[in-house]
Amino acid sequence: MPAPSGVTPSASPSPRPQDQPLAGDVVAIDPGHNGGNAAHPDIVNQLVNVITEQKPCDTTGTETDAGYPEHAFSFDVASRLAAILRKQGARVVLTRDNDTGTGPCITQRAAIGNRAHADAAISIHADGGPPGGTGFEVIEPGLVPGYTDKIIAPSRRLGLDIRAAYHTNTGEPYSDYLGTDGLDVRTDLGGLNLSAVPKVFIECANMRNSADAARLTSAAFRQRVAAALAAGLVAFLHGQ
Ligand code: ZN
Repeated sequence: MPAPSGVTPSASPSPRPQDQPLAGDVVAIDPGHNGGNAAHPDIVNQLVNVITEQKPCDTTGTETDAGYPEHAFSFDVASRLAAILRKQGARVVLTRDNDTGTGPCITQRAAIGNRAHADAAISIHADGGPPGGTGFEVIEPGLVPGYTDKIIAPSRRLGLDIRAAYHTNTGEPYSDYLGTDGLDVRTDLGGLNLSAVPKVFIECANMRNSADAARLTSAAFRQRVAAALAAGLVAFLHGQ
């Protein structure tokens, strides 16, 4: 049974069973890039309109120096996160259901969350930054008049909850080369500009930094990442 909207568990008895705190919630998870993108430049290089500019449909992403690709990382974390959220009762929509396909375009990645009427959406990435740089950052939508007006405030709250939970649960520091205190605001990302639901991106760490790469390559760390993102989403959705 869907929970009545606007009711906070602290203000009145929660209708959700204790082990299903996310019953009635819809979460859209977007694992960045895709394993088939590199083999299909004809598809991923097609330009799409992200309102503030024209951009390629999708990109191949980065990888660690040892060759662990960002698309594999993002898909693994997304799968782990989906399992955690579903166990807590959420309906989860993923923008791709394998790591061997191509795309979808960034415009579609936003549309999937919109169509699901997601209560929250998150796009999972890892950065390809300078080898000396470390840490994570959360990216929030900036103002694109007529598009992001209504999602900026809730996305800001989502971003702060994700940042806090990620920092606490993974121990990963704020990025020392991106954004400010682990936060950034951008208007060049189609996944944010075209979202009608509260949404943030996260760059979980720097794949080109050896210390960060060692963490990202560890399945145990990826499980911590997923648990951290779940905790941030629960905090946003229910203030827990
Ligand atoms: Zn990426």
